[in-house]
Amino acid sequence: MFDLLICNAQVVTVAARGARCKRGAEMRDVGVIDDGAVGIEGDTIAYVGRSDGVSFRDARRLVDATGKTVLPGFVDAHTHLAFAGNRASEFARRIAGESYAGIAASGGGIATTVRATRAASRLDLLELLTRRLDSCLGFGTTTVEIKSGYGLDVDTEILLLEAIRELRELHVVDVVPTFLGAHTVPPEYRDRREAYVDLVVERMLPEVARRGLAEYCDVFVEQGAFTVAEGRRVLEAAAALGLRLRVHADQLSHTGATEMAAALGAVSADHLDHADDRALARLRESGTVAVLLPGVSLFLGEPMPDARRTIDAGLPVAVATDANPGSCMCENIQLVASVAAMQMRMTMEEVVTAVTLNAAAALDRSDRIGSLEAGKRADAVVFDVPDYREILYHFGVNALGMVVKNGEVVVEKGMAYA
Ligand SMILES: [Zn+2]
Repeated sequence: MFDLLICNAQVVTVAARGARCKRGAEMRDVGVIDDGAVGIEGDTIAYVGRSDGVSFRDARRLVDATGKTVLPGFVDAHTHLAFAGNRASEFARRIAGESYAGIAASGGGIATTVRATRAASRLDLLELLTRRLDSCLGFGTTTVEIKSGYGLDVDTEILLLEAIRELRELHVVDVVPTFLGAHTVPPEYRDRREAYVDLVVERMLPEVARRGLAEYCDVFVEQGAFTVAEGRRVLEAAAALGLRLRVHADQLSHTGATEMAAALGAVSADHLDHADDRALARLRESGTVAVLLPGVSLFLGEPMPDARRTIDAGLPVAVATDANPGSCMCENIQLVASVAAMQMRMTMEEVVTAVTLNAAAALDRSDRIGSLEAGKRADAVVFDVPDYREILYHFGVNALGMVVKNGEVVVEKGMAYA
């Protein structure tokens, strides 16, 4: 007996069949079942197949999804949602012609958000995070990675991770916490950056690890942020404390961070706009997932990451929003998925894989989520369109009808019950 049976739908399974992720040409196989059904028992998927393969009487709740599409719940594997304030005025300055670097040099940029975040209370942060996570859920995202990185002092970094932990208990969306103390060097350490890296390694990381506040450690390796050597020092210290690794690599220039991510066995390497063929080959060998962030390029008016080259190099590619106040103020993964198709020339099927199974692999959760297969957790989204391609084609419009999270209907006809 199913607790919930969704039937008569086009079901896009993204079935992994035991694989951790899909690489290269495999990304185009999304396992579409026309007139399909998804049967759920408790919080687990019990049946995925044709509607005529199950009896509709075997369900406590039956959802007739004729003319609709069912996909795995989306996984957003890279966000910076834990911040206060906003940078709308800086956005306006940039649109009017000032450069991102120029605004940062005049005391704006990340420093603006750090000031606002340090001034926020735990309750302020929790309220902001809750609202943003509601928004993610409303677009069909059921698992979200959230980084710290706008505190940049011991107390505020810990406060951010505590707020993220509290959010995990309060919100139905699954949250994966990442410590990003090495986001940028804060203004008070500008002339003694080594002392800031010491602070991250000797004070922040041990406290984060001792209290189990983060699953991952991330670093931003870039000119103006941290060098490869500094990033490596932070990541090696994190790994020694039992944290897993991800890296902001080669976003604005080729630094060697992608090779470092591969050498350290990072679970993901993110951005990769300036990663060269050799770096991509190293990533392929290490099994690291390439997380591309086209929303950032769109927001900043920069060239897109080369998704075709990355997929053709045989890498598992994920696409995420990078939702953050400075370079991509957007938690709508559907829109970012459309941008990936339109601007990075990914096929519809590659994009679907990139925001489901491969994104789950980028958080090392693809054994539990990211596809619709019996035995996996029942995270599914129902769209009010008959063909999954319409979700990306009709861009900027939310065709979401229902979200099922852990087997429970948490959004229905735009109404959130979360
Ligand atoms: Zn980022």
